[in-house]
Amino acid sequence: MSTIEIDELRCKGCGLCTITCPKGLIELSDKINNLGYTPAKFDASKGKCTGCALCAEICPDVAIKVFNE
Ligand code: SF4
Ligand code: SF4
Repeated sequence: MSTIEIDELRCKGCGLCTITCPKGLIELSDKINNLGYTPAKFDASKGKCTGCALCAEICPDVAIKVFNE
């Protein structure tokens, strides 16, 4: 099983990860982080993360870590 962790304090809400995830598991949240942006959030209830790491590779702020078991 794979999962990701998004560092909300680094995220600037650019949305690149949301359009890159082939499973559609990432969306921008409604809350505002310390930088004044709406950070991305991972929603495992929408499907199964494959651990492909495309989200982490596209993130310009290195805010996403991928964990593969
Ligand atoms: S690792 Fe792949 S499947 Fe998992 S959240 Fe990132 S882009 Fe989506
Ligand atoms: S690509 Fe990175 S900075 Fe952009 S919304 Fe996703 S986690 Fe945030």
